[in-house]
Amino acid sequence: MTRVLLASRNAKKLAELRRILVDTGVEIIGLDDVEPFPDAPETGATFEENALAKARDAAAATGLPSVADDSGIAVDALNGMPGVLSARWSGKHGDDQANLDLVLAQLTDVPDDRRGAAFVCTAALVVPSGEEIVVRGEWRGTLVRFGRGENGFGYDPIFVPEGDTRTSAELAPAEKDAKSHRGRALALLLPHLRALG
Ligand code: IMP
Repeated sequence: MTRVLLASRNAKKLAELRRILVDTGVEIIGLDDVEPFPDAPETGATFEENALAKARDAAAATGLPSVADDSGIAVDALNGMPGVLSARWSGKHGDDQANLDLVLAQLTDVPDDRRGAAFVCTAALVVPSGEEIVVRGEWRGTLVRFGRGENGFGYDPIFVPEGDTRTSAELAPAEKDAKSHRGRALALLLPHLRALG
């Protein structure tokens, strides 16, 4: 079976990616299954640039077809920020609670009808022969004032998807995958992964 490397070190994101890519007809492996290689800093100005850079680095270092995603939340009242800075918005990379608290503080005076936001996920597949595919998924919703729910990660406790009253941290994992930005982006990648298998 063709092996495809999922190039992500974010354990919770990786779990979602693995879950969504089950049954693709390829064997999904993680960074722990390959020789270590250095992580380039995420310096791109867009989700697309960052996802592509991560997938290119992984494919070049391992010789394997590689998938990487770059994702974040774009808040309307913050002109689309935190965007590519979502994981380090508070200055501490990966501190989900501090990042979420800072966004809530910034939105304190923003009324309910102007609290729109979108989760964005860009996923890139790079095949060592040179093929590169980049896809994007978005999931719109609104931001509540107090976090709720235990599932998911990052900004999930404050994001209520359109058409729901629960936060994405209150959705069951399969419900989140069926609608989420990551689920939508990877659905676009699936035919290309199947073609590799
Ligand atoms: P990345 O690892 O550089 O792609 O950063 C992704 C960051 O965006 C995460 O650390 C979260 O803060 C946020 N994020 C991306 N996807 C989600 C999601 O599905 N739920 C909640 N937060 C997310």
